[in-house]
Amino acid sequence: MKYISEFRQHNLAQQLQAAIARTVDPNRQYRLMEFCGGHTHAIFRYGVQDLMPPNVEFIHGPGCPVCVLPTGRIDNAIQLATEHDVILCTYADLMRVPASGRHSLLKAKAEGADIRMLYSTQDALNIARENPAKQVVFFAIGFETTTPPTAVALKQAQAEGLKNFSIFCNHVLTPAAMQAILDAPEPVAIDGFLGPSHVSTIIGSQPYELFAQRYAKPIVIAGFEPLDVMQSSLMLIQQLNAGQHVVENEYRRAVTPAGNVKAQQLMQEVFEIRPYFEWRGLGLIANSALKLKAEYADFDSEVIFKVPAIKSADTKGCECPAILRGAKKPQDCKLLGVVCTPENPMGSCMVSSEGACAAYWSYGRLRGV
Ligand code: SF4
Repeated sequence: MKYISEFRQHNLAQQLQAAIARTVDPNRQYRLMEFCGGHTHAIFRYGVQDLMPPNVEFIHGPGCPVCVLPTGRIDNAIQLATEHDVILCTYADLMRVPASGRHSLLKAKAEGADIRMLYSTQDALNIARENPAKQVVFFAIGFETTTPPTAVALKQAQAEGLKNFSIFCNHVLTPAAMQAILDAPEPVAIDGFLGPSHVSTIIGSQPYELFAQRYAKPIVIAGFEPLDVMQSSLMLIQQLNAGQHVVENEYRRAVTPAGNVKAQQLMQEVFEIRPYFEWRGLGLIANSALKLKAEYADFDSEVIFKVPAIKSADTKGCECPAILRGAKKPQDCKLLGVVCTPENPMGSCMVSSEGACAAYWSYGRLRGV
């Protein structure tokens, strides 16, 4: 078992393409939201959209953690680095996301702030150990996939008695975003969901049952390889043809119904749910994000540095908010490829390796698909 190459086999893709062509009803549309940015990139990197019949459309969802972080939280992070003289550590994707006034963490670093890119929470702990005279803030972002490592780092810092390490917590919750999309005042027409893969390894497939039943939307948990996306699309099409709306799990090699219970317990031990959190594109969503529990206040950057709530405007003309709701696609943005490129990003969806605009740019889909 090699885990990747067998999910990219050309002959199997052709077989799935033929099966999908045989299965679709030519008299209807199939609007399938791929929740994750990883799915979006697989679709465009491997040309999956081109293998679909014309009445099967992929709607890009909000499952890109860098993309959904609102501008105000980037502004907060820059303030932490520039006004509190901390070492701010974060994942590389965040460095170039535009903050207010076209500022960014990368520009703040160039201006002298001590901002460091890292690959894991363990790197942040090492920086704290090596710099006992400085406060080290880990700018934590991500869905349920990256939340357990943050919890592990916190527990390690506590066990070691590290007094100079804290977490600026921006972890968000996938089911809340799915609900926000389905409950939107002007909901986007979606027939079914390609459900998250990595997130579901943690939370399992059970949390999606509610959406399948209450909103009558089929959901198929889908892996990130092209054959995963094609097989999951076929499963959704079959459900829609049969008038079904249940949760199915195509990504069984990694996802179970209950998920990773140990990781869930760790998250519950360390975090509590925020009453509200702002998402780029989706606005304020109730019960959609995590913060550190009060007993971990000594490690909570928001408490230590009294981080204010900042409401910041997005870049004028940037369609990221509508793209993240599934209401628009990157080619609907007039700035795509003209003003906005990976070298000069105007919005988060062009920066992140999971962003829809980055996918269109990287794989040459600047015009309609
Ligand atoms: S192309 Fe750039 S400006 Fe347009 S929506 Fe995407 S990120 Fe925003």
